[in-house]
Amino acid sequence: MFRTRGLSGADPFLRRATTASAPSVRELRLNRAVGAYLGLAVGDALGATVEFMTPNEIRHQYGVHREMIGGGWLKLRPGSVTDDTTMALALGESILRAGGRVDALAAAQAFDEWMRGKPVDIGNTVRRNLIGFRRTGNPEAPASEHDAGNGAAMRLAPVALAYLGEPEDDTLAAVRAQAHVTHHNGLSDAGCEALVMMTQDFILGENDITVLHLRAHALVARFPEYMFRGKPRLNPSGYVVDTLVAVFQALFETESFEDCLVNVVNRGGDADTTGAIAGMLAGARYGATAIPRRWLDALDPIMRDKCRTQARALLANFLD
Ligand code: MG
Ligand code: MG
Repeated sequence: MFRTRGLSGADPFLRRATTASAPSVRELRLNRAVGAYLGLAVGDALGATVEFMTPNEIRHQYGVHREMIGGGWLKLRPGSVTDDTTMALALGESILRAGGRVDALAAAQAFDEWMRGKPVDIGNTVRRNLIGFRRTGNPEAPASEHDAGNGAAMRLAPVALAYLGEPEDDTLAAVRAQAHVTHHNGLSDAGCEALVMMTQDFILGENDITVLHLRAHALVARFPEYMFRGKPRLNPSGYVVDTLVAVFQALFETESFEDCLVNVVNRGGDADTTGAIAGMLAGARYGATAIPRRWLDALDPIMRDKCRTQARALLANFLD
């Protein structure tokens, strides 16, 4: 489905490598890490146009939606991002201020400050639990079966970057600490953990087959809800399982950044968030240089710069 032209995935680093000196491991990793962050923003902005539409409605209106044109129910300017990207940036800021660590209280304060800034959109679970934090001062929301939304999963890029090369247990503890500020739920936790490990694996240069088996299938083995083999998941809701099933299908069925993103956002539903998460994974897999130039050019320049700058700052300890 939604098969599209496949040349955009060619990695200029690798093309250059045949004519000049090969890029260093450091350059390749930096390209993929910045790709994860820019991919998140690009996917958010691309998907927002068709958020809450069904695949049929999208087909009727756009044929295949593949351009950064804004609009959607939020009436965005072309290239504008939504809460998925701005919450990730708020979390990233709090990580940098805490010396490269996730600190639950710092994250809760950053999200609270973000909410006070009247973001263009905000999820119900995020709002409810941030209001709870204002009342109690406790950055960990109470565990709840109602908190299995995708709101903790959409903002993981800064955690993946900040904990690159760190022990897996520390990384997973950081994932849960940031997640529990707004989503304290076992399915959300498991999905978030898998997403961060997948992003890190790709940045470090693992191939898709390894990531598929080591992370995606392992998640399904623990939580069969996440089974993503089979019928295409269309119109994915904000339920984290629905979201990740659509994202995994799009990621592992395609072979370029552009094809992955076009595939996932044309499924409709919570398309800005499936776009954001698929963008993070595909950006890590293929690198920033594989993101279509026309999408990067259309992206809100302030957000584009923030993503680039913050990605490099979060990586400082790992790369130097
Ligand atoms: Mg959003
Ligand atoms: Mg959304």
